[in-house]
Order: sequence, then structure tokens, then C-alpha cells
Amino acid sequence: MADSKAKRLFRSYIYVGSLVIIPALATGYALYQAYIGNVGVWDIVQCAVGVVLIMLGATVGYHRMLVHRSFEAHPVVRAFFLMLGSMAMQGPAITWASIHRKHHAFSDDEGDPHSPNIDTFVHSHFEWMMEMSFDDVYAIRDKYGKPFEKDSMAVFFDKTFYLWVAVGLLIPFALGGWNGLLWGGLVRTFLTSHITWSVNSWCHVAGNRMFNTKDQSRNNWIVAILAMGEGWHNNHHAFPSSAFHGMKWWQVDLSAYIIRGLEKVRLAHNVVRIPQERIEQQLSRTSATLKHVQENVQHKVQEATQAAHDAAEVFKARIEEQKEKLSEQAVHVKETALREADELAAKVESAISPKEKLA
Ligand SMILES: [Zn+2]
Ligand SMILES: [Zn+2]
Repeated sequence: MADSKAKRLFRSYIYVGSLVIIPALATGYALYQAYIGNVGVWDIVQCAVGVVLIMLGATVGYHRMLVHRSFEAHPVVRAFFLMLGSMAMQGPAITWASIHRKHHAFSDDEGDPHSPNIDTFVHSHFEWMMEMSFDDVYAIRDKYGKPFEKDSMAVFFDKTFYLWVAVGLLIPFALGGWNGLLWGGLVRTFLTSHITWSVNSWCHVAGNRMFNTKDQSRNNWIVAILAMGEGWHNNHHAFPSSAFHGMKWWQVDLSAYIIRGLEKVRLAHNVVRIPQERIEQQLSRTSATLKHVQENVQHKVQEATQAAHDAAEVFKARIEEQKEKLSEQAVHVKETALREADELAAKVESAISPKEKLA
């Protein structure tokens, strides 16, 4: 049965209220409190630690571990990251994973749930979630969620999503009272939400492209730093299963360092690494394509220049032709006028009598 309009609106308002407006208002209030000096070091520490942990839940847990199976982890580690991912409030694990799978299936094409290249920037940032009905979510889960349904731990965290959202707010409250809830809960949510959404919005419009992928994904270093490495989004679209999104030594990727660390202490294994030669192959294919595009553009520019030059020549010749015609006509008009004047003068002369002439 299709969702009623009222149900859709209700869902949108709940969503807008809980994830867009309340954290934004709370952040404004928190900044005012900071301005008047009513903020403690503990509040800022809670917020910062919260942002890092929850972001890692979304990037290491939901994204790289669950969706792309970039590594396998000890059950305790899996549970820890899936719990943190749930606390990001971006949806139950399997819903999140299914929607992200759909993003990879249609990247920047009709069907992509969030593309700033087929809809507005704001739509790709968060409006898409407000527009999505329950039916849309069920349909996406039906199509893309099946593999995750077999994962009992993912199913558990998916089903208990709201519990972890609550725990994620109760912990900062328990640690720091109302100020803890404000900074460690709401400001944290404001930051983690906008940072994650920036991967969907900014990283498909602003930044460089190292690889020639079929989408418009970009590597954006600002988002990469804020989003624990997820901003190397063009690399990610080129090699979605790679546990490491940073592919050059300078491409800072905190999520990758954590996965490497877990692997070192044997809490993670089967970490997906893309062989350097495959990266090089893709890079040389990209530069060959770029060269080809460049040559094509150069050729087109040459063609256009030649066409403009030819048109100018034709135009010049026509003008000369017209000029000649006009001057011929002018000579003709002048001769005719002179002849007529002479004839007229002769007539006048002959009309005057010899007597008058003498006078
Ligand atoms: Zn993308
Ligand atoms: Zn992905």
C-alpha cells in the first residue's frame, strides 16, 4: 500500500526535526554559550571524541566493513563499530547499506538516491532523505539489502537501531549532564551528519578526479580530513571494495589507519588491498583517456578556428565585391548626372536669343 501524504509529511517532519533542525538550533545555542564563556573543556572533549568515534562508526563500521566488506573483524570489533554507526542516527544498518549500494549502482545517473548532478546540491546533502517514503525504503531494502539480511549481527543492530540512538545520547548526558547532552549529543550529531552528507554532496561536485570513473565523484581533501578519509571519494568509486580510500601517501585516511591498526593486533583480517599495478593501470587508462579528450578538444578548436577564418575570408570577398559594384554604380550615376547637366546647359544656351546674349 502506498504511503499516504500525511504519513510522508509526518516522516519528513520527524526527520527534519530530529536530524536537521534540532541539532542545528542546539549548535547555535552551544556557540552562544561558548561566546559568553559558559563552556568547559570537558564539553569540548566530549564533543570531539564523540565526533571521531561516531564518524568511525559510519566510515569503518557501516561503510567499509558492512557495505563493501573491505575487511573482516573480530565479532567484538564488528559489534563495536556497528553500534557506533547506529549512533550516527543515519538510519538502521541494513537500510543505510542498501541505500549506499543503490548509490554505487547508479552513481550520478537517474536512480541515484543522492546526486548533486541530477538534482540540487541540497537534495543530495539531506533533502533526499526527507523525500524518501517508507515504500521507497522498503523497495530499496528488498532490492539491495538481501546479502545483509544473512548477517545476523547486522540484522541485530538494524532491528535495535533506536536503542543505540538513545544510548548515544544518554552516554554524554550521563557523563556531563545537560551540557554533555548539548555538546556530546546534539552538537556532535550536527557535525557528524553534515560531514557524512558532505561526502554525498561536495564529493560529487568539488575536488579532483584521479581516476576516470563513470560518475562525477571527486577527491576533496577538506571532506577527507573531516570524514576520516571518506573524502577520497573518486578513489572509492574507482575501487569500492578497497579498505583504503587514500591511495597516495599524502591522502590522509584515518579510517584506513584504524583498519591497519586492527589488522596489526589481529582484530581484523582479509583486508582488501588493491594491488599497486591495478591502480597504476587505472591511472594510465585515465591519463590515456584524458590525452584523448585533450586531443579531441584541440582538434575541435582547430576546426572551429579554420571555419571562422574561412567564413571571414568569404565575408571579406563579398564586401570587396559589393564595394566594387557600388563604386561602378557611383561612377555611372556621376557620368549620367554630368551628361544630363551638360545637356541641360546646352538646352538653356540654345533657348537664350542672340540679343539677350549680347546684353
Ligand atoms: Zn559517491
Ligand atoms: Zn561506498
